[in-house]
Amino acid sequence: MPELPEVETERGRLARRIEGRRIVSARIDDSRLTRPEPPEWVAARLGGERVTTVERRGKYLLIRLESGDVLVVHLRMTGSFRYEPATHERAVLELDDGTRIAYRDLRRFGTWTLFEPEKADEHLSVRLGPEPLGRGFTTGYLAGRLQGRRAPVKAAILDQRTVAGLGNIYADEALWHAHVHPLRPAGELGEEELAAVRDGIRTALRRGIRRQGADLGDGTYSGGLMQREFRVYGRTGKACDRCGMPIEKTRVGGRGTWFCPSCQV
Ligand SMILES: [Zn+2]
Repeated sequence: MPELPEVETERGRLARRIEGRRIVSARIDDSRLTRPEPPEWVAARLGGERVTTVERRGKYLLIRLESGDVLVVHLRMTGSFRYEPATHERAVLELDDGTRIAYRDLRRFGTWTLFEPEKADEHLSVRLGPEPLGRGFTTGYLAGRLQGRRAPVKAAILDQRTVAGLGNIYADEALWHAHVHPLRPAGELGEEELAAVRDGIRTALRRGIRRQGADLGDGTYSGGLMQREFRVYGRTGKACDRCGMPIEKTRVGGRGTWFCPSCQV
């Protein structure tokens, strides 16, 4: 499931091909992708538009159009853009330079939502906390957000309203960097621990972006190398890179969760 580093990688690849280009035709074959709007309506609105920029907010892509409209794409489980014909294509964009961009989505949970000017940012701002790599994500902000919360810290940082863009992989990696156990009640963390969690989140995400995200070999996302550098995620029984103790697996809110039992307290 794409998280911030994977979505940021998609953003960069898409931006290089589509920014400044005109969409000469759009075809959307899956009504689930655009509902409640009919796919033909969204496709017709995209046709003829020039793309100004491709931005990212949390795990969402924002494709900004010359008219001011914004196509907000959420890849969810298995969505990705492809530049060669692929299986499970749900939509195709043809550009004025001949580029063909396909949207592939095996499990069909992804969404394409077309917003009028200003509405996209409004829509996302009520659903998403600050960008973890932005200036608004401070230790003070995190302290205020987690104050009094009895939920495990991992569950708290997975909440997109706390901070935008984390999923199961990078939450585990972040807490390893922070030396904080994923089951610790969020509201019990001291100031130094909160600072470590904030820094751990940023470290884990920056590493992921540098490696162009993770490719778990499930055919849904390709190209990244972060999976070779996981410190805890999926590493049950392997030695902790920091202290040598075997990594353990538990569950937090129903999600598989990996941690070092010795150096995460
Ligand atoms: Zn350890």
